Amino acid sequence: MPTEPTTGYDPTLGKKFIFVTGGVMSGLGKGITAASTGRLLANAGFDVTAVKVDPYLNVDAGTMNPYEHGEVYVLKDGGEVDLDLGNYERFLGIDMTSDHNVTTGKTYQSVIDAERAGDYLGKTVQIIPHVTDDIKRRIREAADGTDVCIVEIGGTVGDIESMPFLEALRQFASEEDDEDLLFMHVTLVPYSMNGEQKTKPTQHSVKELRSIGLQPDILVGRSEHTLEAETKTKIARFCDVSTEAVFSNPDVPDIYHVPLMVEEEGLDEYVMEQLGIAEGALPKADRSQRWRELVTRDRNRTVTVALVGKYGLEDAYMSIHEALKHAGIERETDVEVLWVDADRMHDEHTERLESADGIIVPGGFGARGTAGKIEAVQYAREHEIPFLGLCLGFQMAVIEQARNVLGLEGAHSAEIDNETPHPVIDILPEQKEIDDMGGTMRLGAHETQIQAGTLAEAIYQADSCTERHRHRYEVNPEYIDQLESGALTFSGTAGRRMEILELEDHPFFLGTQFHPEFRSRPDRASPPFVGFLDALLEQQSDDTTPEDEVTA
Ligand code: GLN
Repeated sequence: MPTEPTTGYDPTLGKKFIFVTGGVMSGLGKGITAASTGRLLANAGFDVTAVKVDPYLNVDAGTMNPYEHGEVYVLKDGGEVDLDLGNYERFLGIDMTSDHNVTTGKTYQSVIDAERAGDYLGKTVQIIPHVTDDIKRRIREAADGTDVCIVEIGGTVGDIESMPFLEALRQFASEEDDEDLLFMHVTLVPYSMNGEQKTKPTQHSVKELRSIGLQPDILVGRSEHTLEAETKTKIARFCDVSTEAVFSNPDVPDIYHVPLMVEEEGLDEYVMEQLGIAEGALPKADRSQRWRELVTRDRNRTVTVALVGKYGLEDAYMSIHEALKHAGIERETDVEVLWVDADRMHDEHTERLESADGIIVPGGFGARGTAGKIEAVQYAREHEIPFLGLCLGFQMAVIEQARNVLGLEGAHSAEIDNETPHPVIDILPEQKEIDDMGGTMRLGAHETQIQAGTLAEAIYQADSCTERHRHRYEVNPEYIDQLESGALTFSGTAGRRMEILELEDHPFFLGTQFHPEFRSRPDRASPPFVGFLDALLEQQSDDTTPEDEVTA
């Protein structure tokens, strides 16, 4: 046994893979279970990475509607990927690349391209072995240089779409040592009418998995409460695993508590023993304190933030919710998000806006909801409510300034009104000739120069920042002088491009052309979100009159 705990890649261990599949139904939180397992291994000192397999035909998530699929997450290399990758980055504290999101579209595209190039000359190109080989190659490459790679297969076992991937895993298993692989299957354990935990759906989905040649090593039962001993025994007996290999994953109020909860049942120990890496782990006492301290930190204050968007679905703005949570951890504050539908600004949603301590206008595409977003910006500006505008929200702030402060009637974004007399937001010049929609925006990490003496500098405590982008439109250079003639300053720029805006004489008014939410982590909150939260807290303490303090 090593005297010094290992904390990096140990080539003598061999690369380890944990494949995570899901049964019974989607939306069980399979990604969170997988990410939590990864977190525990990282807590034990291993280098962990993840691959998300999405069995859809889209090459990437970039063209998918957030309504159907939740937000499109953006990686530093510009990859537009499934939101589960956001969870992996946040849970594991790593930066991933597009190679970590394998889709049917990507594999078929490369196999078909290779066929056209003549790489298989003379051969019949088939799902087995050509597509399955491509899948295995992608997984192995993404795992390179790490100790453990978690591979999550999207969808539910039994779906036609996931068949080539599961077949690739079956082949993978026959090519690698047993000790280097673990199959984890996450299923639903529902309750009967009389409150009994039912194992039949789990049994059926394991049967389905076995019919394609995969035997799970670990079963995780998603359920309202912890699995009862009897439930575990029954699952073990019917699914051919030991009782120690059955774990509970009950509902918790905060996803960041899942690692701690599965740790309590010993999931980390079991996984490490099965993979033969237990001896290289940090001593148990040194493992999860940092994570535990972060996610259980007291939050003795509460602020409310109005999020003015158009997709009435929390997943569509997942990274913003998480970034607010991270700022909340840093400032020991609970952040409550009030959903405001930009299309319903004139009914009860206006009241919600008015009751919030601060306002966020997030990113988005297309015309719907923009009128309401512009109204929300105006409300924040005129009532001196802390405001954070992200991407489209930044653009809406420019339009609001042009119309209501500079009197440029009809000012708009060319994306929304291409006949506007004042296109203060216009298409990026390099975008003009582009017709394809997939992967063609200005994407990924780019550096912004920050002007000295500004709010942006105070927030970032630096003269530059590198944040992730996803946009096709920008501030029209022809209007910059006019826009800056009053209280507005573009305090962050990247050459010709305006990246950050702020207003003087306002407690906190900040817009960013980029998406700072994608770099936010539980232990590294995003500066604009922390700055915004500080402004809310300051506002709250200003509102507390001495009289309140006496009665409090
Ligand atoms: N639709 C805007 C653009 O393409 C904003 C994009 C966004 O909010 N991500 O520039």
